[in-house]
Amino acid sequence: MHAARLVADLDRLAANLRHAWYGPARSVFEDLDPVGWERVGRNPVRLLRECASDLGSAAARPGYAARVHDAAQDLAAYLDDEDTWYRRAGGDPNRVVAYYSAEFALSDALHTYSGGLGVLAGDHLRSASDLGIPLVAVGLGYRDGYFRQHLDASGWQHADPARNDFAEAPLRPVLADDGSRVTVEVSLGDGRVRIQAWHVAVGRVSLYLLDTDLEDNLPHHREVTGQLYGGDDDMRLRQELVLGVGGARLLDAIGIDVDVHHLNEGHAAFAAIERLRRHLEGGQSFASAVELVRGELVFTTHTPVPAGHDEFGWELASYHLAPLTAELGVEFTRLWQLATGPGGEKWSQTVLALALAGKANGVARLHGQVSRRMWAGLWPDRPVDEVPIGHVTNGVHPGLWVGPDLAALFDARLGPAWRASDGDKAWQRVRDIDPSVLWATHVAARRRLVGQARDRLAAQARRLGVGGGQGWAPGGIPDGRGLDPDALTIGFARRFATYKRATLLAHDVDRLAAILGDDARPVQVLVAGKAHPRDEGGKRLIQQLVELSRDPRLKGRLVFLEGYDLELARSMVAGVDVWLNNPLRPLEASGTSGMKAAMNGVLNLSILDGWWDEAVADLAPQAEVGFGWAIGDRSEAGDEATRTAADAESLYRLLTGELVPTFYTRDEHGVPRRWVAMMADAIALLSPQFSTHRMVADYVDQAYGLFTPSSEVA
Ligand SMILES: *Cc1c(COP(=O)(O)O)cnc(C)c1O
Repeated sequence: MHAARLVADLDRLAANLRHAWYGPARSVFEDLDPVGWERVGRNPVRLLRECASDLGSAAARPGYAARVHDAAQDLAAYLDDEDTWYRRAGGDPNRVVAYYSAEFALSDALHTYSGGLGVLAGDHLRSASDLGIPLVAVGLGYRDGYFRQHLDASGWQHADPARNDFAEAPLRPVLADDGSRVTVEVSLGDGRVRIQAWHVAVGRVSLYLLDTDLEDNLPHHREVTGQLYGGDDDMRLRQELVLGVGGARLLDAIGIDVDVHHLNEGHAAFAAIERLRRHLEGGQSFASAVELVRGELVFTTHTPVPAGHDEFGWELASYHLAPLTAELGVEFTRLWQLATGPGGEKWSQTVLALALAGKANGVARLHGQVSRRMWAGLWPDRPVDEVPIGHVTNGVHPGLWVGPDLAALFDARLGPAWRASDGDKAWQRVRDIDPSVLWATHVAARRRLVGQARDRLAAQARRLGVGGGQGWAPGGIPDGRGLDPDALTIGFARRFATYKRATLLAHDVDRLAAILGDDARPVQVLVAGKAHPRDEGGKRLIQQLVELSRDPRLKGRLVFLEGYDLELARSMVAGVDVWLNNPLRPLEASGTSGMKAAMNGVLNLSILDGWWDEAVADLAPQAEVGFGWAIGDRSEAGDEATRTAADAESLYRLLTGELVPTFYTRDEHGVPRRWVAMMADAIALLSPQFSTHRMVADYVDQAYGLFTPSSEVA
């Protein structure tokens, strides 16, 4: 009897991805079998399958079944709760937003993301769920996600497949009433491809992952959703047709009447063409169909780096779009003009989305400005500051990103509201926490991280066949023994795109060595991140850092951790003391890892770019002590080499003049009082502002128009 209820409760918790961001639900799986939980890649569906025979003994453990039952009841109450932020704010319950993204980072059990874009999309869904926004999401159900990273003995990155096994993932097939699978079709240049879908429950939000791996498709059509960002331009175009056109058709097919279509980056821009088709089919002229699409389309652009904007040549675009154009009953050149803009020579998904979106935004205030400049050519009659691209600054989801040590302290001292939409006042109460308690909690998170880093490095050294004895000695593989759980710890983890300047810290190795190597006041650096498999330059940067980690002058105090993913990111942003970000301004559109760090009381040391530029401008005046440090200034003058040298100089000066003394100046109880006061400033001031709860509320208010009576929007 009890065992049956336990199984039902666990199944219910596993089937909804809220467990991935809500600690009390997640810990139910961790505690069931801590070793097994790691072995199955923190996939609750697999864990339950593997533990099935052993659940009887779990049920017998004192208190366990009751805890699981409480968590299951809590989930049911969460799903049924009608008193949401959205309702209280007067949002229209009958409107629906569809959110399209090529990536979603939801859980380690689903490899459907590569980096920041996917994490942001995942946090968007998590907050939309918490706030009760009527939102559904569409993405691609890749059979292979972005790669898993491992390094060889020379520090060169290798890519291992990251396979998604849908039979063992927390999702279910989308079925029609008669039990058959719902499918839709999209025409590519070489024929029709049939698409099925998987439903993922993300709290209250439904995500539909599209999948072309069906037996009645041509073999190469089955491959379209084969790999995240795999293949060439032709494959990219096929994937984007499936995402945009297939996504809009799927929502139609399952009877979801969408009012607002939000394109998260240009990958989904073909949804706009499908909407155009629907309005043309309804009898509208081309011009009025365009106006109707503009009334329902929101577009977010995510990068000022040109390579981040998908472009296709005439031949490829006209080939794959010919069938869709025929369905629209217009000349291809009309679409080509929309997607190339004045004087453009390639089909640009960004240009298309900007042409058809009534609301367009960048992801931080500075990025809004940069985007208006970047795309001003599309509005030749307007001054740059009237280019219709605004900004909604990114955020991160508090429940996912605050680490377990601090989350327990927040639950006890701030109350549950810190996780919620109305947490602004709760965050202020961090100032009432005794500094020695806040410090001890952070130290526990650092020690946990350093322990994990040592384990990872030791495992890596064993795998490379250099176990034991060598440590960080010349030519050796750092095995983590150079790390000190109590040293000032700097974290740097991100994609290895060159503009992020991962090696800035090593601009002058002697100065770096002097800072790291001081045995009285040691400093250590944890680095992680992936380079795109075709980015040789990025891979060389990783290799340079690995070589540096073996430089005896650094005493094993700089290490590279392989396999950056959600889990490693969660440990790093909670356990380091300082989060370093040093891109070449203004190329970092927003950056979100620094926000995750700030919520954990980690102090940012960053170039004034992306979110940090506005955090410092808007909130530094309200700080009691300060919540971090700005490297350099807002100047963008001078050639890159000169700017990099100047930024490195600023970085070294801040480290020696400010960070090291502040961290190592302790009171009689060993607490760095000024540092802890800065931690409190970071948590109290930055968390509410750079939360996706605030971000999603801004989208609802400024972009989705969900507070306007429905009659105002066609
Ligand atoms: C947050 C996050 C990112 C994005 O961080 P940026 O600061 O925007 O570079 C990338 N990858 C993972 C795994 C993350 O958690």
